[in-house]
Amino acid sequence: MSKEKNFKLLQGEISELQEESFNGLTLKVIRDSSTQRYNEKLEALHRALSYVHHCLPDAFSDLRLPILTVVFGEKVPCQVCWDNTPHGKEVYLFLGDKMMFQYNKSLQDELFSSGEKGPRGVCDQIYDDQKRFIENRALWCCCYRPHEQDYQSPVSAKATAIVVHELGHILHENNDKESFWQNNITASPKVISADLARQVGSYVIGNNPNEFVAEVFTGLVYGKRYSEGIIKEYKKEGGVLPVWDIRGIILNERGEKR
Ligand SMILES: [Zn+2]
Repeated sequence: MSKEKNFKLLQGEISELQEESFNGLTLKVIRDSSTQRYNEKLEALHRALSYVHHCLPDAFSDLRLPILTVVFGEKVPCQVCWDNTPHGKEVYLFLGDKMMFQYNKSLQDELFSSGEKGPRGVCDQIYDDQKRFIENRALWCCCYRPHEQDYQSPVSAKATAIVVHELGHILHENNDKESFWQNNITASPKVISADLARQVGSYVIGNNPNEFVAEVFTGLVYGKRYSEGIIKEYKKEGGVLPVWDIRGIILNERGEKR
């Protein structure tokens, strides 16, 4: 979907908030009047930016992007749109209400939790991990370093992961434009092999390889471990490897714990 189509989906009055700067990135935040739970969404955006910055300290300065426009609206999809203008490339990050949805358990379980589709999408896996984590307080003191992540609700953990996924698309496009735009050609749809897709999550299955890259990126940021086959494919498609994950664990060139 194009930037224009997404702007048409915005409802009511549009407010433009102040620009802010984050580690080499200038953000312009826009919201429409239908947007609910705005503070939580903004918090998820800030948390996702700081996770990605933590895992890849040069990520945002390497983008050399004059401005990242973030648009919150109830009806817009969660999606990144690029626009070439006479002043250079502009990037729009649309964040719709989908980012705050708790998954529909029965439907998701029926579709994805067992059988050939593999585990749920990576952002839903983050939701599941967070739910398990806060339900088991014993894990708080022995297995994890204290981290801001530990105290989020599952829904805000998922919202953050959705923003990390979208930032993954932006970094992928910047890292390997040829592969990224080639994958976007709808005339010749390319998909990741079912075996690899199943190891990552249901969202990758049947989607173009850019979704595979964004999902694996999200998983790596959150410290998920993937097989050598996954990491090889991820690098081939132009994915960026985090230097370490959000728990502060340093990763080797295969995305594994060193
Ligand atoms: Zn995506």
